[in-house]
Amino acid sequence: MTPFDQLPWIVESVNEVKSTLARGRLGHAVLATGTAGIGLDQLGPMLAKTILCEQASNSSERCSCRSCVLLAAGNHPDFLTVSREADAGVIKIKQVRELIDFLQITSHYGKRVVVVNEADTLNLNGANALLKTLEEPVNNAFLILLTEQPQRLLPTIQSRCQRLVVRSPSRQESDALFLAQGEADLNEYIRGRYSDRPIQLLQWIEDGSVDRLKQWINVLAVEARANIDVLKSAATFAKVDPKQLVNWWVDYVTWLASQDRPNNAIGVHEFYQLLLAEKHRIVSGSNPNFQLVLEHMLANWYKMVKIRS
Ligand SMILES: [Zn+2]
Repeated sequence: MTPFDQLPWIVESVNEVKSTLARGRLGHAVLATGTAGIGLDQLGPMLAKTILCEQASNSSERCSCRSCVLLAAGNHPDFLTVSREADAGVIKIKQVRELIDFLQITSHYGKRVVVVNEADTLNLNGANALLKTLEEPVNNAFLILLTEQPQRLLPTIQSRCQRLVVRSPSRQESDALFLAQGEADLNEYIRGRYSDRPIQLLQWIEDGSVDRLKQWINVLAVEARANIDVLKSAATFAKVDPKQLVNWWVDYVTWLASQDRPNNAIGVHEFYQLLLAEKHRIVSGSNPNFQLVLEHMLANWYKMVKIRS
């Protein structure tokens, strides 16, 4: 979990709920939405804390009331999180029944909160079961549905929830987060491309999946040009999934073309056409030898694209 104060866009939404709660206007069901990679899953526990805290006037991160202490320890008896199991495509009906039962039993300390992560992965049976609960809410029981794709939820569920839209972070907020997380030296492209989904980028950095992308961008970057051995690079990157690699490449070229230096990126548009044609062949599975294709494309890249930094 990323520290609370590094996510101002999430904190804003928490404060919104806090003030709605203080005015006695918080609905029994909240549908919280936001785009992918902004840390929506971190909102659930924070909202639960806001609702369950026994000193609502100062529910800071360091609050030491009974509820906050239990939540921090991960064993608050009035709080339940429901997530899709790792090997399942959907939230199972069994899990939905458990959450309905949980909302209906008497709370230990006054209120109950259930957070459903990726609520769009409820299947039709699960969604219908949940709908009944929404139609007959229990006092002091709160259901929080989190989703990046609200349009995939039943309209009848959407309409029975209070909507909370979590905004995306600004470029400055993402940069501040990367800095705070010790990732200040990300290259300009990666930082720019992922600044609207910083939590996703941090996860990719942590699990190592960004390393290959970083290496690939280094191959394409103009500074590296003189030192790149095309054959060697092609051999190395031919081991990456061709679709993945060509998608990275398309994305990088799109970004280059969008930069405010058109005269300094000669040939980008022409190369883009070539790349799209190649992508089409790769996606259709008609490429016999990816390494050869890569050699050819890299040679073209260095020949066609002239970038003055
Ligand atoms: Zn508290």
